[in-house]
Amino acid sequence: MLQTGACVIATRCVARRTSRRGAQKMNQDGARTGKAATVKEAKKVGAAAKIASGTTKTAPVKATRKTSAKKEAGTLAPRTRAARATKEVKQPSSDEIHERIMSAIMEHKLPPGTQLVEERLARIFNVSRTKVREAIGRLVHDQIATNIPNRGAFVSSPTSQEARDVFFARRLIEPTLARSVAMSATPQQVAQLRAHIKREHTARSSGAPHEIIPLSGEFHILLAQLSGNSFLVRTLRELESLTALIIILYDAPDEHHCPYDDHPLLVDAIEAHDADRAAELMLRHLEHVEHSLKLEPPVAGEIDLESVFA
Ligand SMILES: [Zn+2]
Repeated sequence: MLQTGACVIATRCVARRTSRRGAQKMNQDGARTGKAATVKEAKKVGAAAKIASGTTKTAPVKATRKTSAKKEAGTLAPRTRAARATKEVKQPSSDEIHERIMSAIMEHKLPPGTQLVEERLARIFNVSRTKVREAIGRLVHDQIATNIPNRGAFVSSPTSQEARDVFFARRLIEPTLARSVAMSATPQQVAQLRAHIKREHTARSSGAPHEIIPLSGEFHILLAQLSGNSFLVRTLRELESLTALIIILYDAPDEHHCPYDDHPLLVDAIEAHDADRAAELMLRHLEHVEHSLKLEPPVAGEIDLESVFA
């Protein structure tokens, strides 16, 4: 997946240095031991909601109880209504929680191996654990998270073979998708794609990798949306999210070339209704990203630490 995020692909270099080392360490220290330092990250996910909520949960209720019916009908009534309104704002649905967690993953704020602690997330989002469980259940269903018996759910850490499988699937789907969009694109749809690229460019110029990453991934999802095929949209969301996780885990630290112009070139081909070129550009784009990763085969047997540090 998974990722909603950036062409995760085109922008991998931007986030590489900041995310990879930390993610790998997290993967080793967190996923394997279950002590993921992600609680801090989880707090970040809900920090805005917490800050926005401001008032305490109990204060307005106590004040109302101690007040006479007359006062309640007078000055305190608006406050009560305000408290209720605040409470409504503080209660996101399981879908919204799912989106928030997905966004955090796409923005590399919740790297592979991060434990998704149900109780803490419930507190952060100020919802019941049932809602959080539903949101995590969807992540597990989409393979963005993995349930480990007796330990809980963790942000998935795709293996190198799974990473290859994800790119294999993308190469099968997206060139044909690009071809289809090129054949049918309207001027309005091209304008939509151009506007998106402008947002990517602006984010890149401002040097904000956390904005670039989701935007790049959304470009691919936008293409799926323009095809009008809801199944493709869902599939691309899942593949983009997985790709985001894969890039965090396997991005090559010495890779410096980022195909920043791939998306604009693709839109040029779509605007010209050049279906063959659009398909070819998409294929090259995906191949480039995959080849820039270090998808090494899993280690056979135990590592000889003495020889590593000799
Ligand atoms: Zn891309």
